Amino acid sequence: MFFWLLITFILGSAVGSFLNVVIDRTTRGETILGRSYCDYCKATLRTFDLVPILSFITLGARCRYCKKSLSWQYPLVETIIALLFVSSFLVLVQSGQLSVAALLYYFFLVSTFLVVAVVDQKFSLIPTTLVFAASLISLFYNYFYLSSGLFFEHVLAAFAASLFFLIIVLATRGRGMGEGDIVLGFLIGMVLGVKGAILAIFLAFLIGAVASLLLIICGKKSFGQTIPFAPFLALGFLTALFWAKPIIEWYLMLY
Ligand SMILES: [Zn+2]
Repeated sequence: MFFWLLITFILGSAVGSFLNVVIDRTTRGETILGRSYCDYCKATLRTFDLVPILSFITLGARCRYCKKSLSWQYPLVETIIALLFVSSFLVLVQSGQLSVAALLYYFFLVSTFLVVAVVDQKFSLIPTTLVFAASLISLFYNYFYLSSGLFFEHVLAAFAASLFFLIIVLATRGRGMGEGDIVLGFLIGMVLGVKGAILAIFLAFLIGAVASLLLIICGKKSFGQTIPFAPFLALGFLTALFWAKPIIEWYLMLY
């Protein structure tokens, strides 16, 4: 078991390293092929500069060639994806649903949501093409792996969730949420179904409200200033993806 967890962690950190490239290059309109280079001095990076997490530590968070500080985004994304891959593996083992298809599906979902969260945080935009592609993959996955009743429930949840965000966008005239959140709601509903999507969106608003309050208290934001919402949707989504069942059971037990 430990061996598999270690392999999953290493695989996750490598995928995280690739996602960093995807995040930075696609938003700049560059191709994702070609060798990695330093953002400042454009020096081509060698293999030993590109070991996930470890290179960042051994280089002391600086470029080997120009000594400029490297962005914390790189080791953070690598570590978070590695941990999300390990969590996916553990959750699937515990729920007795472990299969290659389910594992790859979870890996794909956590990667998608991390990219969406980081891109929204960094550039205030949601990569809608990626979200649409992920929704399509989720539709196919549900079609093959869910009963027909559940399949329709998930499709319904997708439309209901995007309608919910559409209403918010119209009601706030685009100041509260963006069009990207409508598309992201669709994906959340498609993956999680009705109950899971409600939980994910509820958690997103809860965490978002607490975070906004803290930012206002710390004086980092003023009241009425918007903050990117996708990172909170991603947090709500991941929590629901991994723990919807125990959380909902716990909630129902309160009554
Ligand atoms: Zn450099």
